[in-house]
Amino acid sequence: MASTLRHGQTIIIDPNGDLDLRLYTTKNATGHQFNSALDGKPIAGKISVQLKVSRKVMVESSSYFKAMLSNNWAESRQSVVDIECENPVGAELWYRVFHKSPLPNDMYDIPIDRIGNVIQYGGLVQEVRGSDVDLEELYEWFEKCLERIDLPTITTDELTMLLYPCYAFNHAQGFATVTKRLSYEISGHITENRTTEDRSIHLDGNVIGSVNGAKGSLRSRLIRGLFGPIDRFLDATCACKEKSLFAYCQGIRKTGIWPLEDQYKKSVQQILDSPGFVNFAIKIPDGACIQCVSKLSPSTIAEVREKISEEFDGLCLDCINMTKTGDVDEDYWAHDRMKEWSSACRIHHGQPSWYFSFVGRKTDMKNHQRKKRLEYKNSRDRFGWFGF
Ligand SMILES: [Zn+2]
Ligand SMILES: [Zn+2]
Repeated sequence: MASTLRHGQTIIIDPNGDLDLRLYTTKNATGHQFNSALDGKPIAGKISVQLKVSRKVMVESSSYFKAMLSNNWAESRQSVVDIECENPVGAELWYRVFHKSPLPNDMYDIPIDRIGNVIQYGGLVQEVRGSDVDLEELYEWFEKCLERIDLPTITTDELTMLLYPCYAFNHAQGFATVTKRLSYEISGHITENRTTEDRSIHLDGNVIGSVNGAKGSLRSRLIRGLFGPIDRFLDATCACKEKSLFAYCQGIRKTGIWPLEDQYKKSVQQILDSPGFVNFAIKIPDGACIQCVSKLSPSTIAEVREKISEEFDGLCLDCINMTKTGDVDEDYWAHDRMKEWSSACRIHHGQPSWYFSFVGRKTDMKNHQRKKRLEYKNSRDRFGWFGF
């Protein structure tokens, strides 16, 4: 980690800086102490990093530092200030952003579970609630961090930790990949993985419900795809229909879908990747008629597998956040009419991504419902409708 590597040195954020910030930790620091820069008295804790910054830039960029450094407090006259901080990497990042100072290469290698802390620290220095932090200036940093994370191979646990950062930084591709993998690869209920102590840092409204909705929809499509063809055998009139149906059931059994009541313990991806599904094979019964042979073709199941694998492209941040036409109702019908599910979106996606992202728009929908109620009330007042 950036700060560990340069432990013990002063990190120069501004070469002409007139202020040294000494960040110290009290966690796991039993028995450690140092002398306070303020009055020389011992402070219990361990200095993790010292950062050279410009007092003016810090005061102008952060209400937190403005309060600390520009009043009559003792700190306002010191050239070294001690600050208790359990998040030195987040601090260094934000101070660099304030100074428009280039970020050292190793700052892009942040562990996934620390990204939330960077957002949280931004909330502190900007004096806003964590989820309202203006993260635009750190977007490039986040984008590069994400490039160094191998999204297709990280664990589902790590994916749930990335949900909020991708959402908060408005990273469309990252958010789509994370939500796609989660809906295919988690068997139980998908939840966010909280990595900070700030309880206000979480996804908005109904987003997590939408990821779970997409997962449930994939699962039911999968079951429909496997069991749907049975119906065609039950309608058949040929003499071989029973034998053929039996052969079909033997085939789907090899996908591991039975016992059906236990299939929810497996993720959609696990079912799709089972050897019986990947290499779906049926022993065609002797004397099967041409219709039965065609119904038993492995390509039917291969098509189901392919279709389900490509069904959901993940949630689209643009469909969640943006009103494309300026009106929620108009958006809904316009998309349905045009079938251009990802027009004006940063990622290309199909109908399911649009649908589940749309229902994830809780904040918007709330405002919408409020607006509708108000319209209703106004019209009632205007026309004097009573009795409702
Ligand atoms: Zn037949
Ligand atoms: Zn979209």
